[in-house]
Amino acid sequence: MSKLVSGSECLNGVLEGGRAAEVPEMTDIVSNAAAACPGYGGALGAPSGSAGRDHGGSGDPRELFAAARILQSRHKSRTVTFSKKAFINVINLCRDICSYCTYKAEPGQSKSVMMSKRQIDLSLQMARRYGCIEALLVTGERPEERYAEARRWLEENGFESTADCLAYASRKALELGLFPHTNAGNLTRSEMAELQETNVSMGVMLETSSGRLASEPGGAHYLAPSKRPAARIAVLEEAGRLRIPMTTGILLGIGETVREAVESLGVIRDIHRRYGHIQEVIIQNFWPKPDTAMRRAPPADRAYFMAVVAACRIMMPDMNIQIPPNLSPDTYGEFLSVGINDWGGVSPLTPDYVNPEFPWPAIRRLKRDTEAAGYRLECRFPVYPEFAHMVPGRLRDMMSSVAQADGDNGDGGAMLVKRELWE
Ligand code: SF4
Repeated sequence: MSKLVSGSECLNGVLEGGRAAEVPEMTDIVSNAAAACPGYGGALGAPSGSAGRDHGGSGDPRELFAAARILQSRHKSRTVTFSKKAFINVINLCRDICSYCTYKAEPGQSKSVMMSKRQIDLSLQMARRYGCIEALLVTGERPEERYAEARRWLEENGFESTADCLAYASRKALELGLFPHTNAGNLTRSEMAELQETNVSMGVMLETSSGRLASEPGGAHYLAPSKRPAARIAVLEEAGRLRIPMTTGILLGIGETVREAVESLGVIRDIHRRYGHIQEVIIQNFWPKPDTAMRRAPPADRAYFMAVVAACRIMMPDMNIQIPPNLSPDTYGEFLSVGINDWGGVSPLTPDYVNPEFPWPAIRRLKRDTEAAGYRLECRFPVYPEFAHMVPGRLRDMMSSVAQADGDNGDGGAMLVKRELWE
């Protein structure tokens, strides 16, 4: 059994005894480790939320990162995955207002998008031509509830709702051999059940379990009712009851405390313990955008970001953990040493409409950097191999036709994409 030389009781307990790391102790560990990192920007203040006892050991970030590495190598192979995707920006009008969001558009703005059926078809055909495997279908939150323009768009295209449009786009994607993964905010049970027939997985970010950021005036989610933690948690739970492989995650640097960030991971862990359907946790770092209310806020502190990624591995040792590589340009490879095992969707075709100032790295470069760190890069479907059994049989059969032959690698290779389709 591995043991850290002078590490904390908590980290050694997780490493040796398989005990779970709890929120108060991880809060202290993250706070202490981040504050001790070279280059720490001082954004965190004092460790918050501990019950009078510091669980953080020496505060040496190397111990936190080493524990994460040990758990990663114990629970994950030397394979790091990504998904070759096209980001289909179906409609970017949104009924909510998040203080950091540059994706959302107002009707008439040059960046506003309301795709017609024909535009959806053409985008998917283009994605196919570029060899994409995943069609990431993204919309704002129920735009028709706020904008007459969105209601007109639905009517003109013969859709009853945004979800109905997503069902159309998903069917079209499948017809072309692309695998849909929908991320459209808080879908209802019946909407998710319908999309489950065509989507191999779906996603909704928890972002934070802090109600404070939604209830305090000026909070990042004050004008975004869909981001109230109870609403997001309800969607994730409903997806669990439906047995849909779900991607979720947290957004760091939007005003949360360390305690709230760690609590958010705890909430995701609890949901996964109950339903077993969380296939992946994304840890996303906030970057300010010039056209948003949070334009003067600092980006997520890098030391804090790395410490939370490591904490995620410690709290959920066998979880798939992703950071978006475009949001840590030039240094994303370092995250392989703090516990991640996935780069998420990377597109050879479309920009990241949520962070348009950050281009995705070329797949060639992703492969080179991953291999330089001692790992092997593989392309996965939007659904992770170990969750493929939850996908309807018809979709699984389609996946099999472009998947590696059984035993091609030691990582459930039957449900990873053939190398000749992405290399
Ligand atoms: S982050 Fe999502 S919910 Fe918030 S404003 Fe942007 S599109 Fe709407």
